[in-house]
Amino acid sequence: MARLLIVEDDAAIVRNLSDYLRGEGFDVASATTASGALELAGADFDLVLLDVGLPDGSGFALCSEIKGRFGTPVIFLTASGDEYSVVTGLELGADDYVAKPFRPRELVSRIRSVLRRTGRASPVIEVGRLRVDPERAQVTKDGKEIFLSALEYRLLLVFLNNRGIVLSRSRLLEEIWDAAGDFVNDNTLTVYIKRLRDKIEDDPSEPTVIKTVRGMGYKL
Ligand code: CA
Repeated sequence: MARLLIVEDDAAIVRNLSDYLRGEGFDVASATTASGALELAGADFDLVLLDVGLPDGSGFALCSEIKGRFGTPVIFLTASGDEYSVVTGLELGADDYVAKPFRPRELVSRIRSVLRRTGRASPVIEVGRLRVDPERAQVTKDGKEIFLSALEYRLLLVFLNNRGIVLSRSRLLEEIWDAAGDFVNDNTLTVYIKRLRDKIEDDPSEPTVIKTVRGMGYKL
């Protein structure tokens, strides 16, 4: 699973983006300052998303530092129409930029493309006999492809990103809300979980991948 570091001082962006990226199968950490980012950047990240204006310094200086010390790929988050930042960022070795406000989907496709280009992508997630390739949105079991609907797939990714954690029904509803586009209620969630189990479990009546935790929710 690719590990991303978000460096951004806007708490709302960090929160929404982290949730979204986790839902897309990334492992996500964040820092709100340049110094906080440098403390973390030594850890093995595959890509850094970097805001230009940080409270304790500019993203440009941080980009040079990260590039020089760790060589980690960087995508700048710039203000829209800020060509100076775009040019400066790219001159400093940034791998790409995305202008705010950006569409999360657009950002994800940029992230995947930079990861591919820099040979950082090792995106396949395995759980038991299931293999999930988020780059291709492909799920296989024992090498055979399993076809999931967009929502079933999203639901599976939510479980994969919260391995071993009990997820309540309300948490799951929150997580798949965005992907659903339309109204997902408690009953439809039951239906989606059943459909997902029918496709991935050996015996859907005795699930071993997505387990029911009585009175609390579900656990992968
Ligand atoms: Ca900022």
